[in-house]
Amino acid sequence: MKFRIMTGSGRLAILLFLSVLFSFKFCATETSTETETEKDVDQGETILEDYLVCRTCGADAALSNFVISQLSPKALVAANETLFGKEVLVQILENPLGLRYEVVTSRRATCKRIGVWTKSHTWFPGYAWKLCLCSRCSAHLGWMFEPIATATDDQFFPTEKGFYVIVLSNIIPEKEVKSLLASAYTPTAPGTD
Ligand SMILES: [Zn+2]
Repeated sequence: MKFRIMTGSGRLAILLFLSVLFSFKFCATETSTETETEKDVDQGETILEDYLVCRTCGADAALSNFVISQLSPKALVAANETLFGKEVLVQILENPLGLRYEVVTSRRATCKRIGVWTKSHTWFPGYAWKLCLCSRCSAHLGWMFEPIATATDDQFFPTEKGFYVIVLSNIIPEKEVKSLLASAYTPTAPGTD
């Protein structure tokens, strides 16, 4: 780092002070970046696994990192299956109309901001729900669940105590989309004609 030394000892002192301060800040930032990188590798906390995208339009719906195992006491079937490269709780839930959905639960998801919470016919006692619609094309992705106490009209999305239920047939892992695209397009290697 180079500073043009100006006349006057006061200015020089200020420049030296700023120089030391800047160096210290720069080193501190570097150290914290290294720590985070190590954490990523060692604990896998923030490594992105796979995006689950809307099957209709391809918009991001959820991230497989945030898939959880929130068991519904009303599940017709609940079993661990290997999905998105890991063991995931898959449940079959039935609505009052007799429609069945194969679902996973997630700590986070991306849904359109809509309507009010409903308490009746909930799959998770103590939780109110609303639909989770794709933020881009409004296709049905699943539902949002929030503890009844905090499911107020001004709480548009689940808090940290809430969660999301995602219908497997309404999303597709992005890696799967890419492999489908790759297998559909097989370019001719140059010089093989
Ligand atoms: Zn969509």
